[in-house]
Amino acid sequence: MAEVYIGLGGNLGNSRAIMLAALHDMEELPGYHELARSGCWLSAPLGGPAGQPYFYNAVVRANYSGSADKLLKELLHIEDSHGRRRLQINGPRTLDLDILLFGQMIINEPSLSVPHPRLGQRAFVLLPLMQLNQHLPVPGSNCSVLELWQGLAAAQQQIIKEVSWVI
Ligand code: ADP
Ligand code: MG
Repeated sequence: MAEVYIGLGGNLGNSRAIMLAALHDMEELPGYHELARSGCWLSAPLGGPAGQPYFYNAVVRANYSGSADKLLKELLHIEDSHGRRRLQINGPRTLDLDILLFGQMIINEPSLSVPHPRLGQRAFVLLPLMQLNQHLPVPGSNCSVLELWQGLAAAQQQIIKEVSWVI
């Protein structure tokens, strides 16, 4: 059994409703049990096409009894079932599900990198993660989530705010 952190995001369609539906789908996965979910965060897009909509993001903590590869496969399937299409890097998406942390494992496979490689550079990941566990050590970094945020905060110019889950 591993304690895992999964990031959710989206900026096409009714993102909060899609994220809530995905959380529901995840609760149906064999071996998955949700422990806590962060607030919902709204941020200006980083890169991608000019003028694309703002992003909604959140993080969930769960126990998972399967492998990391299995979880990735399940999450990609849930993305697809909500109409995810990969057209452009950093482009608009209905639903993005990323494995941020899988226990204290470090995974470097062609199709799976854990901890998520850009976790430390993204306010929309670190802020919701801090709501769940700010002292969590991030394997490979020698830092806690809070310390990564402190390293980023000064340079971070991204517009971001917490919003209600309720639409
Ligand atoms: P991104 O999330 O970087 O915007 P995508 O969601 O399109 O990009 O993901 C593309 C691929 O990233 C997935 O098919 C998956 O194989 C790979 N990937 C590598 N590491 C991870 C991870 N930790 N969580 C989710 N996907 C990952
Ligand atoms: Mg992704």
